[in-house]
Amino acid sequence: MGISESGKILETLAAGKRKPRVIVVGAGLSGICMGMRLMAAGYDDLIVLEKADRCGGTWHYNQYPGLRCDVPSHYYQYSFEPSSRWSHRFCGGEEIRRYFERMARKYQVFERIRFNTETRHAEWTGGGWKLDVATANGASGQLECDILIAACGILVRPKYPDIPGLDSFAGQVVHSARWDHTLELAGERVGVIGNGSTGIQMIKPLTDVCSKVISFQRTPQWVLPIPNRKYSGFGHWLTGKLPILSKLYYNGYRFLMEQVLGRGIIKDNASRRMVAKLCRWNLDSVKDADLRAKLTPDYTPMCKRLVMSSEFYPAIQRPNAALVRAGIDHVEPRGIVTTDGKLHELDIIALATGFHANEYMLPMTMTGAHGVTLDAAWQDGPRGYRTVAMPNFPNFFMVMGPHSPVGNFSLASIAETQSEYIMKFVNLWAERKFEQVYPREDATLRFNAEMLANMKDTVWATGCKSWYLDEKGVPGSWPWTATRFRADLRDPKLQEYVIA
Ligand code: NAP
Repeated sequence: MGISESGKILETLAAGKRKPRVIVVGAGLSGICMGMRLMAAGYDDLIVLEKADRCGGTWHYNQYPGLRCDVPSHYYQYSFEPSSRWSHRFCGGEEIRRYFERMARKYQVFERIRFNTETRHAEWTGGGWKLDVATANGASGQLECDILIAACGILVRPKYPDIPGLDSFAGQVVHSARWDHTLELAGERVGVIGNGSTGIQMIKPLTDVCSKVISFQRTPQWVLPIPNRKYSGFGHWLTGKLPILSKLYYNGYRFLMEQVLGRGIIKDNASRRMVAKLCRWNLDSVKDADLRAKLTPDYTPMCKRLVMSSEFYPAIQRPNAALVRAGIDHVEPRGIVTTDGKLHELDIIALATGFHANEYMLPMTMTGAHGVTLDAAWQDGPRGYRTVAMPNFPNFFMVMGPHSPVGNFSLASIAETQSEYIMKFVNLWAERKFEQVYPREDATLRFNAEMLANMKDTVWATGCKSWYLDEKGVPGSWPWTATRFRADLRDPKLQEYVIA
């Protein structure tokens, strides 16, 4: 069972190597990918800690109506485990979650997952990590490991808006990331607050069943129309018979995302202008001039996360849909009152207000070498070394850590690159090449300075507010190409590490 990107069988644990005790925190697509690599290489002294009762991370927590991934499924999968059975170009959340769970089971990662177990604190003991964990039923305990890997995701903790009177609403309030499946939507009047990727995805399915759907929109979004093609049974059969087709799909979508869209994000180039034209053309399909004006953003497309949808504009023009641009003043028992004094009567308020982004393993606390805490290390915001490690945190790695290219590429592909890099350190530890390793402070500062210098050309810095920018307005995503990302993480620059 070998899984290097080139398709080469990875070397399994050779005689004479020691086997590290590894703990991975998080059983989403990043933690599962890390677990698969470890298991494939024979490092089976593995525990995966997951605070939820199922694996899948974001695809477990988010179950709102219309949830789909806006990255084509043929590219939102591990390149070494292509599925020939994706139902659509952009698959639904549960189908994606099941794929990752299937992978966890196939590589025997699944039985190493401790569900309902939250990691509260991790402490470097001088020779390894000691973790305080708590289970959902109130039990607590400690675990130890030689290598600790955080794969905790980036958009995890839902952001609830601070709207006066929200608690007084007589109907139900539900956040997109904590959807209540007992909620009866048929015939109801629903208000959706927020129109990021989530809020926009909800509008079509809600207008299918609700009597009234009102989208409360603070800032308009650019929307790129990409039809969601359904794959046929014949297509599945053919892709199953000819694996080269999966590869072609994967590489084709990867090229589009990384070399076309991705390059437009980091430089003002032809693809940035092409995306702008396509979004404008899509917006022009809205017939009513007043509605079109309300839907028109005043910033460059892709500055905020580009919304991919060919369903939103038709849905928002349906007779049972409405768009409200006036700000929300307060909520009262009957509904939402906007700043123009109008009461919008509702039965349900859906909060599509996003997440406390870029918290990574927080609120877990950590104390690394020399007593350095995570709070202290991140007092100016989450910072890392080449997305995967931090000074003073020995034998500690992150998948999807700070500055990962989450705004540009498929997260499955990022997890592959980062986990393959981390494996090199696991192998070095197994070969007794070090007892502890962490990146040098100066190398980390240099990386961060270089990254910030490159941010000025990115579309994120063109004047909009988004979760790609931290509280100080510093964009937190990778400002270079995918090619550079993979090159940077191909081989560890050991001279940039403290090795003992
Ligand atoms: P988001 O992009 O952060 O959008 C939050 C929305 O809520 C924005 O429209 C924001 O308005 C609005 N909002 C927040 N607080 C508000 C308040 N107090 N009053 C009124 N409006 C408020 O969150 P998201 O849509 O959940 O998406 C988050 C990320 O998840 C996306 O960027 C994407 O990366 C990912 N996602 C992906 C998919 C997918 O298909 N793969 C689907 C959904 C989400 P402002 O713009 O004015 O701040």
